[in-house]
Amino acid sequence: MAAAGVANSVVPRNRTNPRNGAFADDDSMAFETSPGVEVYSTFDSMGIREDLLRGIYAYGFEKPSAIQQRAIRPIIQNRDVIAQAQSGTGKTSMIALAVCQIIDTTNREVQALILSPTRELAAQTEKVILAIGDFMNVQAHSCIGGKNIGEDIRKLENGVHVVSGTPGRVYDMIKRRTLRTRAIKLLVLDESDEMLSRGFKDQIYDVYRYLPPELQVVLISATLPHEILEMTNKFMTDPVRILVKRDELTLEGIKQFFVAVEKEEWKFDTLCDLYDTLTITQAVIFCNTKKKVDWLTEKMRSHNFTVSCMHSDMPQKERDAIMSEFRAGNSRVLITTDVWARGLDVQQVSLVINYDLPNNRELYIHRIGRSGRFGRKGVAINFVRSDDIRILRDIEQYYSTQIDEMPMNVADLI
Ligand code: ADP
Ligand code: MG
Repeated sequence: MAAAGVANSVVPRNRTNPRNGAFADDDSMAFETSPGVEVYSTFDSMGIREDLLRGIYAYGFEKPSAIQQRAIRPIIQNRDVIAQAQSGTGKTSMIALAVCQIIDTTNREVQALILSPTRELAAQTEKVILAIGDFMNVQAHSCIGGKNIGEDIRKLENGVHVVSGTPGRVYDMIKRRTLRTRAIKLLVLDESDEMLSRGFKDQIYDVYRYLPPELQVVLISATLPHEILEMTNKFMTDPVRILVKRDELTLEGIKQFFVAVEKEEWKFDTLCDLYDTLTITQAVIFCNTKKKVDWLTEKMRSHNFTVSCMHSDMPQKERDAIMSEFRAGNSRVLITTDVWARGLDVQQVSLVINYDLPNNRELYIHRIGRSGRFGRKGVAINFVRSDDIRILRDIEQYYSTQIDEMPMNVADLI
């Protein structure tokens, strides 16, 4: 099964400005918002401080995305907010921006806490805050597992305005009284459905108990299943909701395909046939277990294909090295687990392969959303064994989307 029409160009195509629903200016788009939510079509009109505005423009943002047009105002007016929007449409960036707006830089205490499910995402968010907040001299720190505790202590004792972290390390720092919580006025849960799911819920609650009672809480995610929305009344007050209907959640810009591989054994050859397509720009390949990631990486390498791999059993130093290689474009094909499914933003990724179909519907949205960032084109290819077809059809129906058989000229779509 050859991936025909192999375009082996290393020059990224120009794909700025393709517009689709998530970026549209008009109100015909698919948000379900609480009454009173207004639409601000420029950053200038949002009442953002001057030095932050400069940072936003210097970072290259010219115009707010649809979710930013709606959610920034209520957040900076200190309302509790639940904001949902498609992957890659600027939710995390919006948080970085809002956090900068609400902090008082004359007070060197932690005033905003952002929790994320992975170390890489927490670190990425810290970087965006530092970049956007450059002109206002915001001090941010990422408090994440796998890093030197001494460094955390030094940074926190020196005084920072914002902490972006993973729950375990943040809790550890709070318990040690190194992270003082008394001035925290905003808690953000990025990828909030994941943060409130079984694996994380208790840890979040541990942290939450130490935060001041008049806390503002903001939840963001591309996916917010019912059971998550239902529990929000336990820790949020009259939240402003900006939600997307399920059938509007997949992006026009990300084309979704499947390859019928029949048996597990045939996936590998299919992937090898696609290798030239993978390297047109950058690609992320998802497997369901770390073991399989290791196995596939070894097997690809033994067939002389160049690939990187990352999962959570690797030392953090190695994870960091793989991330920076991949962000710099020095490696083009990354084989990984769901540690990479959420939030990570590498604009050059235009292809996602589900070597294994994900274990739930939400993960599907997040995985394919690693491509097609901020209106760019993307392609997602699902390898389906005969007994997976049902799962794929379920995903297709659930999101009212279309997943066609992969065409021969798939490389032309990247
Ligand atoms: P999400 O959290 O919704 O997946 P991100 O905040 O990670 O999206 O943003 C996705 C990409 O879009 C990032 O590369 C970010 O820099 C870019 N981006 C976000 N907002 C804007 C904007 N208003 N203008 C231009 N680019 C933006
Ligand atoms: Mg995000």
